[in-house]
Amino acid sequence: MIESELLPHIAGYWDGRFQSVEGAATFEVLNPANGERLARVPELGGSHAEAAVAAADAAMAEPPDLPARAAMLRRIAATLTEHREELARIITLENGKPIGESRAEVEYSAAFYEDAAGRIAALAPQTLEARPRGFVWRVHHRPAGVAGLITPWNFPLGMLAKKLSGALAAGCSAVVKPAEKTPLSCLAFFTLLDRLGLPPGQCNLVFGDAPAIGDVFCKDRRVRVVSFTGSTPVGRLLSAQCAPHIKRIALELGGNAPFVVFADADLEHAAEQVLANKFRCAGQTCVCTNRVLVEASAQEAFTAAVATRVGALRVGSGLEPDNDVGPLIDAQSFAKVRGLVDDALSKGARAVVGGRPDASESRFFPPTVLTGITTDMACGREEIFGPVVPISTFEGEEEATIAANDTEYGLAAYIFTADNARAQRVAARLHFGHVGINTATGPTPEAPFGGMRQSGLGREGGMEGILEFIELQTIPEAPA
Ligand code: ADP
Repeated sequence: MIESELLPHIAGYWDGRFQSVEGAATFEVLNPANGERLARVPELGGSHAEAAVAAADAAMAEPPDLPARAAMLRRIAATLTEHREELARIITLENGKPIGESRAEVEYSAAFYEDAAGRIAALAPQTLEARPRGFVWRVHHRPAGVAGLITPWNFPLGMLAKKLSGALAAGCSAVVKPAEKTPLSCLAFFTLLDRLGLPPGQCNLVFGDAPAIGDVFCKDRRVRVVSFTGSTPVGRLLSAQCAPHIKRIALELGGNAPFVVFADADLEHAAEQVLANKFRCAGQTCVCTNRVLVEASAQEAFTAAVATRVGALRVGSGLEPDNDVGPLIDAQSFAKVRGLVDDALSKGARAVVGGRPDASESRFFPPTVLTGITTDMACGREEIFGPVVPISTFEGEEEATIAANDTEYGLAAYIFTADNARAQRVAARLHFGHVGINTATGPTPEAPFGGMRQSGLGREGGMEGILEFIELQTIPEAPA
């Protein structure tokens, strides 16, 4: 069982306190590195979500003013930074990722709150220069209302920060539902929020029966924005549930990121970037490289550069500081990745590094590099969510562009070439919300990030991430 001074309560949080729920069933949170039980957590449902929404709605009666919001966001950023080590340990215990990545996630989260604090001034009412109908008009940025935030397990604090920073900056109160595989980091974060003494109902936390809680978020008229990060099928379901209520929804869904390497690229640098991007959280992120497309003449050299590096990766418990790649989140994910690799090998792909895991293993998937990938192989089309680099080849810019776009997803893409004009040309034709050129870095607090096509709706980060939680209201201030 986990012991932490940041986890004095294993309970939901609403109305300004941790709530003990009599007779609730519980679910277990497991350490993916060894299967040990970390905690038993109460399984909350629709009635608890309603209580949390009621508390959040009551807080909306007096949303904090702009200076109070900026101060609150800065205090959240500071407390995250102050408790980085313990939060990182909890993330690693429940998610499995290497401790260095967990530390980076805490810092990344703090940066979102800090960045949002710096944007608050832009939410002051704007007076229109034109005087239509003879009035001086002011455009107000009103908080949209209670925000229901549903987050995944791959960045338990990072994905929450992207949503909650925007919601709080906008003046919304929030009900948070973390993933049931990783609720403990979020619980620890709520212990810190509780110590900050935020107004009761400003931030609330429920977990357990995800469909029942999601149903409340979508149907309860007090919830005005639903923001979700997770799989495309669940996003589609939530979208349908919100539609009859004309409710705002922001969706950050699956990705199938192409990593396009032209023969003129710095191949060693491109290989470094595959490593930096592909193996984060053992390949379980929505911006992870999913398909490496390399110009045929560079395939051999590039594959060798990648293979050497992948072969040197150290796999094991995320708590050991020297390990580069941790376990997959659960046995089901492991089986899925194994199935994708088996399918590719049976259809003619070649494992340059890794490949089939040991039969006894069901946690740590061996970092794998596959060549000869074609679109009739499942890993050439589907999101892999594991430490597998599938490499296929193309001839020329046109073929590369068509192949990169050949997916229903549109989150992140990466282009490597020495020819910036070509990179810009190709990027303009790619239907992806984020395109890295000679870099495979992902979203940052300062820039709006989000998906095109089946990867989602709306943006997180930047001013746009705050505006997702704002309603604009136009009022005449005075006759002209
Ligand atoms: P993953 O496959 O990565 O776990 P999911 O989309 O299933 O992705 O989960 C992402 C988040 O969505 C989690 O917090 C999960 O509990 C939640 N979730 C899953 N199903 C539903 C649902 N029907 N309604 C609301 N939330 C859901």
